[in-house]
Amino acid sequence: MVLIATFAAHFIAMKILKFGGTSVGKPDRMKSLVDLVCTNQPKIVVLSALSGSTDALVNICNLLHNHQKETAQNAIGELQVHYKKFIETLFGDNVEAAKETTKIIKSHFKYLHDFTLDMFTWNEEKAILAQGELMSTTIFYRYILSIGKKASFLNALDFMRTDKDGEPDYFYIKNNLSNEIKRLDNKDLIITQGYICRNVYGEIDNLRRGGSDYSASLIGAAVDAEEIQIWTDIDGMHNNDPRVVEQTKPIRQISFNEAAELAYFGAKILHPSSIRPAQEKNIPVLLKNTLNPADEGTKITSESESNQIKAIAAKDGITAVKIRSGRMLLAYGFLRKVFEIFERYKTSIDMITTSEVAVSVTIDDLSNIEAIEEELKNYGAVEVDQNLSIVCIVGDFLEDKHGFAHKIFGALQEIPIRMISYGGSKNNVSLLIESKYKKEALTLLNKHIFGLN
Ligand code: ADP
Ligand code: ASP
Ligand code: MG
Repeated sequence: MVLIATFAAHFIAMKILKFGGTSVGKPDRMKSLVDLVCTNQPKIVVLSALSGSTDALVNICNLLHNHQKETAQNAIGELQVHYKKFIETLFGDNVEAAKETTKIIKSHFKYLHDFTLDMFTWNEEKAILAQGELMSTTIFYRYILSIGKKASFLNALDFMRTDKDGEPDYFYIKNNLSNEIKRLDNKDLIITQGYICRNVYGEIDNLRRGGSDYSASLIGAAVDAEEIQIWTDIDGMHNNDPRVVEQTKPIRQISFNEAAELAYFGAKILHPSSIRPAQEKNIPVLLKNTLNPADEGTKITSESESNQIKAIAAKDGITAVKIRSGRMLLAYGFLRKVFEIFERYKTSIDMITTSEVAVSVTIDDLSNIEAIEEELKNYGAVEVDQNLSIVCIVGDFLEDKHGFAHKIFGALQEIPIRMISYGGSKNNVSLLIESKYKKEALTLLNKHIFGLN
């Protein structure tokens, strides 16, 4: 009987609620999460580090790398003071609970401090960066207990893992997460870290900056969640980048494909890879605002409204590589050889255009650009152009009945366009421009397509 009950309990539909750095970055904000998470619905709460913490930890790593030990020690000291004050304000009169929590947090700072006493190598960077999420979850967990509520704490390093290619190991994650959950008494509120994981060798690693969204989606897929909620500081996915243009408006419904394109091409609200796990399991993703929980937010599902331009995003730091070769371009096998070079250096290509004499591609990872350029020279003259941005217009372009292409290019008459990709996907038209024109391009598109400034 007991066995059956435990087994059944494990399969109760769960929700995943992920809260980003700004949602936990101030004691008041963290307090306001209590009403959202202390309900009877079984849920896994995935937390980012307190806002600014990961940046501070990156800075500490850079200082250690540059042998600036004393400055690193000061930076660690400053961060510790910030955490101490945070805990004191959060726990208020509950001095005992504050003390206990401060003691645990102190051990994380001792761990950080120890890196300043020895030679620092980049291998240790990931362990340093992981402290942000480990501390935010500890503080929140302890706070929930201190106000008399029940919760369980799960260490993501015990189940989140990447494989030899650095991709999530779905099988490992599912099995280990399920085993970890089975061992918990309280399944109504399970608190764990976003972003952090272990690699194939068992070393501490992470899912790259902004990776907590990805963690939430991977966890959701692993437990077959009924919904994945991403709580942040804005009321859902907006039609344009609110950091760049003045007037933007939230989108209420968007498809997985559209959201994935927007995330990949610069909509910072979602980590570029975060849609895929949810989409594979057809789990709805809801984007919500912690500052305004009553707002409906954005729902991401498999449904798409056809014949609409949904949103615009832009991705900076793009480099165009052009290979010009009148002699070889049309020969079969040429493109394969070119792409193989990028593949060998694990450099993914975003946009591609070809003409009779040249092929141009864009990349955003420059770690191997010199070697790539050298090898490409065997096939023709190579030009490398930096400081570019991809502007991506997302919607349903299956049939351009409404003259969307005309609208897009009409809006951008004054902007020099370097490359165009149209038709590769029914959800995306991408344009390559110099980054200095990005604000103007996004503003013009906002005006002509959405009637906003
Ligand atoms: P979190 O810390 O919660 O993960 P992020 O800063 O990573 O939050 O993402 C939220 C931010 O994404 C917003 O504050 C907003 O400035 C930015 N953003 C960029 N593009 C968009 C967009 N299209 N819609 C909504 N937010 C966007
Ligand atoms: N804390 C990590 C970062 O700042 C992960 C995240 O917030 O999603 O990148
Ligand atoms: Mg984020």
